[in-house]
Amino acid sequence: MDIPATAAALKNGERRALARAITLVESCRADHRQQALELIDALGSDRQALRIGLSGTPGVGKSTFIETFGLFLTGQGLRVAVLAVDPSSARSGGSILGDKTRMEHLSRDPNAFIRPSPSQAQMGGVARRTREAVALCEAAGFDVVLIETVGVGQSETMVAEMCDIFTLLLAPAGGDELQGVKRGIMEIADLILVNKADGDLKPPATRTCADYAGALRLLRKRPQDPSDFPKAMTVSAYEGAGVEQAWNEMCALAEWRKENGHFAGRRAEQARYWFHEEVRLQLLERLSADAALSAQLAKAEAALSRGEITPASAAAQVLDGFMAG
Ligand code: GDP
Repeated sequence: MDIPATAAALKNGERRALARAITLVESCRADHRQQALELIDALGSDRQALRIGLSGTPGVGKSTFIETFGLFLTGQGLRVAVLAVDPSSARSGGSILGDKTRMEHLSRDPNAFIRPSPSQAQMGGVARRTREAVALCEAAGFDVVLIETVGVGQSETMVAEMCDIFTLLLAPAGGDELQGVKRGIMEIADLILVNKADGDLKPPATRTCADYAGALRLLRKRPQDPSDFPKAMTVSAYEGAGVEQAWNEMCALAEWRKENGHFAGRRAEQARYWFHEEVRLQLLERLSADAALSAQLAKAEAALSRGEITPASAAAQVLDGFMAG
């Protein structure tokens, strides 16, 4: 790949260059990895998008919401990129998220760019790819980057670590639903959106929203946020009700954090987090790329499963070998 030419085309907003660049960062080949790093370095970081994470279990209406929300944003003259993180796609071999037919109108909108989830088995690899794809979308001049994920395993934490605003989409439910939502996710959410607040579902949606608002009030206050955040509100992806308000809340929170230095502070903290993750990931990559070391790794693993060695000493042995080499 011609890195300077791709960088220029991408900065010029050419979608094909962006799509090719994302394919490059998704590749596991060592030479592609090198090129991907060169490309990201060449792009610089002078452009910034608002990065919004959106999580929710299958069926709550994520794709319907993104379609409505995305079209609302492009209607405001904003350019929107949608990236998906679906940890189940590696297992099923297909992607549930990011399927273009799910966002039929948005995918045809010239001011929107939708990219499905890559099917990589390793969470570390998915995190890296998504983070780098976010950087590529920012360099391509998108105003908003939406990172969609299903509420499974580590994927929510991972997405929360790469976005400015984290939203959780919920469906209206019976009274006991609240316990089903993990406390951890409530703690990282900036905005809880109870979807499907239309027709017969409006009363239960309003009740569910009040329940969550109550639960949020019990959480520890965040010194970096206005006192009325995190917030719960109702939306209808079908009717578009509440979508503009949700956007206004996101903008208000982002503005507040910017004025108080917390926006940049959070990004710096995230950069430190990913730096440590990259050290871990790259260390493992180097270990397995080296024939002697990967043999040692396998040997240590075997000894570990026979119960002859503890995990800590096995790791220390392998790393001693690495440092010596
Ligand atoms: P996802 O799995 O989270 O992406 O959810 P989908 O967007 O595929 O929606 C799941 C189901 O909920 C579909 O049958 C949608 O038609 C329905 N749905 C989504 N949004 C709304 C809404 O605002 N109101 C109502 N009543 N149903 C909705």
